[in-house]
Amino acid sequence: MPRRRTSTLAPVALMSLLAAGAARAQEPAVIAVRAGRLVDVDKGEVRRDQVILIRGDRITAVQPGSARLPAGARVIDLSRATVVPGLIDCHSHLVGEAEAPDVLAPLERTETQEAMSGVRNARATLMAGFTTVRDVGTYRAFVDVGLRDAIDDGTVIGPRMKVAGAYVTVSGGGGEVTGAAPDVVVPPAFRFGVANTADEVRTRVRAILNGGADFIKVIATGAVLTAGTKPGASEYTEEQLRAAVEQANEYGTFVAAHAHGAEGIKRAVRAGVRSIEHGSLIDDEGIALMKQHGTWLVADIWNGDYIDSVGRAQHWSAEIMRKNTETTDAQRVGFRKAVAAGVRIAYGTDSGVYPHGLNAMQLPYMVKYGLTPMQALQSATIWAAQLMQWEDRLGSIAPGKYADIIAVDGDALADLHSFMKVGFVMKGGVVYKGP
Ligand SMILES: [Zn+2]
Repeated sequence: MPRRRTSTLAPVALMSLLAAGAARAQEPAVIAVRAGRLVDVDKGEVRRDQVILIRGDRITAVQPGSARLPAGARVIDLSRATVVPGLIDCHSHLVGEAEAPDVLAPLERTETQEAMSGVRNARATLMAGFTTVRDVGTYRAFVDVGLRDAIDDGTVIGPRMKVAGAYVTVSGGGGEVTGAAPDVVVPPAFRFGVANTADEVRTRVRAILNGGADFIKVIATGAVLTAGTKPGASEYTEEQLRAAVEQANEYGTFVAAHAHGAEGIKRAVRAGVRSIEHGSLIDDEGIALMKQHGTWLVADIWNGDYIDSVGRAQHWSAEIMRKNTETTDAQRVGFRKAVAAGVRIAYGTDSGVYPHGLNAMQLPYMVKYGLTPMQALQSATIWAAQLMQWEDRLGSIAPGKYADIIAVDGDALADLHSFMKVGFVMKGGVVYKGP
């Protein structure tokens, strides 16, 4: 076998590798988390007085509070709190600034500035109790990939991420930076996923996944916050959407479809996407199709209120404010019907439209529009993990899963607003907030 040429740095690198190996060989200390109330999202029940045992980054056991603790266990006392699996936001945009959308804002920042905004936003998200996100797109391609990797290797503090890499969108569609004069050329880094035929869709999907994305985000209809596009209007044919799904499936992954309009939703569902994002103008036929296909609905049902109040105060464009009004109430009506019909629901907020860290604001809305408090928490934990295909490693507090655990004072299920004050955050056995 060919051997890499030895450089002068090799001995140093080798020594640090050996040191890391030695550290790993030692048994990690056991942490015992005492939980006054433990939310078991697998069973949909709250159990009193439990102890969670953690070794390294994993949960090893969940036992009654009266059971003997292993010798030398470090005890974290959350006996007055409700202990919950780390929350999951399935519709975040960690890269970029939350700001008035009717400008060419993404073009006003360097790639480094975009990345640094992601560093700040990732930290805010984790500290708010969201230990995992499915990040559904960035205008400048692949900044999310870099952020995910920096979090994974410990360079940056933030949630576990699955990322979309770039938007697959038609020219001038909901995933483009729009608003420039027609003779102004938007740089290629912002147009990485632009595709206008089924063949182009396949090519862009491959390029995005080869570039390090975990899944594909297609923009199936116009968008509320993208000037000149119509949320109700379809932007891809069913055949084009199917090309994205088939190509993503070849890579062993899935497609999330941004879709507001009723027709665009149905095309995406028939094409086999894994989730519908927003789903604002869904009709009864679309709901039945989603139920039939097992498609997940990720509806940002709080966000419309945020856009309405802040957009008014900051004088966002009349076009965006009108489109927000046209989609917000309709989305909530559709969401309620989808819940009643038994459509699979996962929690997603469109963080990045609003400042990061407020992700839990939507939890009480999930109850207001049809879920029980337990189901609202399930949508943001185990159901979200299922959507992300990560239910084998996270989404509930169970042996073998990552020790991603948060806590809220008192009886948190009595009022989900309490999740705006998460007092304890552990990710992978490391405490980031609290005792
Ligand atoms: Zn979004």
